[in-house]
Amino acid sequence: MPGFDIPKSHPRYHSLVKREKLVAGFRLGLVVPEGLIAHGRGETFDYLLGEKSHEFALEAERVTAALLLVSRRPVISVNGNYAALAPDEIRILSEETGALVEVNLFHRTEERIRKIYEFLVDHGVRNILPPDCGKTRVPGLESKRGIVCKDGIAAADFVLLAIEDGDRTEALVAWGKKVAAIDLNPFSRTAQKANITIVDEAIRATQNIISYVRELKERERSELIAIIDKYDNRRILSMAFQALLDRLSVAVSKGIL
Ligand code: ATP
Repeated sequence: MPGFDIPKSHPRYHSLVKREKLVAGFRLGLVVPEGLIAHGRGETFDYLLGEKSHEFALEAERVTAALLLVSRRPVISVNGNYAALAPDEIRILSEETGALVEVNLFHRTEERIRKIYEFLVDHGVRNILPPDCGKTRVPGLESKRGIVCKDGIAAADFVLLAIEDGDRTEALVAWGKKVAAIDLNPFSRTAQKANITIVDEAIRATQNIISYVRELKERERSELIAIIDKYDNRRILSMAFQALLDRLSVAVSKGIL
C-alpha cells in the first residue's frame, strides 16, 4: 500500500498500519477528523485490553455470526472508519452471509457517502446499496444522522455496526432492530445499548465473525437459534470490565505488565 513503509519488525506494527489506513482514508475523504479522534479512543481501550480478542469478544462474535445466518434481512452498516480499516473483511463477510452493506454516516454528506460507496465497490463489495437508494428516517433521530435506506437498515431485522455513536445505536434498538456493535470501549453508550456488544478491534472482530460464519454455516437453524437464545450481553460486558480490571491489577501489583 502506498505510504505504508512500516517495518514488520516494529513492535507496534499492526497499530501503526491501522493509523496509516485511517490517515489514507482521511486524505481520500472517507474519514472525517472526528473519526481520527474516535480511533484514538478505541486504541486506548485496545492497549488496555492487550490488543487481542478475549473470550468475551469471541463469544459475542460467534453469536453475531449466528444472527447473520438466521436473520431474514441482515445489514452491515459501514461508516468511514470501518470502511477505511476493513474493506476486504466487509466484502468477505457480506459474501459469506448474503448480508447487505449500507453506507451510513453520523457526519453525513452525500459526497462522502458516494466516496465510501465507490471505495467499497473498488474493493469488490457487491451486495451494497447505492448512494441514491430510497431514503427514510430512524424514528427519534433528528437531522441528517437519522437518514437510512428504506431497503437497507429500515427493512433490516439485524444490524451489525462498528465504531458507532451511542444515540444512533440506541435509536436503532428502540426501533426494534437487533443490533450487534463492534466497540472497544465497554463504557460507551453504544456498548451499553447494543443487544450484542463486541468489545474488540474492528478488523480482528470482523475476521473472527467470518471464521465463525464459516464454522456455523452448515449447522441446523435450531442449533443457531440455541446459540442466540443462551447469549447474555450483560455477562459479556461484565467479563470485559473484569478483563480491564485484571490487567490493571497486575500492572498495579507488579509495576509492569
Ligand atoms: P458513545 O456515543 O457510544 O458513548 P463515543 O462518544 O465514544 O461513544 P464515538 O466517538 O462516536 O462515540 O465512537 C467511537 C467508538 O468506537 C468509541 O467507543 C471507540 O472506543 C470505538 N472505536 C474506535 N476505533 C475502533 C476500532 N478500530 N475498533 C473498535 N472500536 C473502535
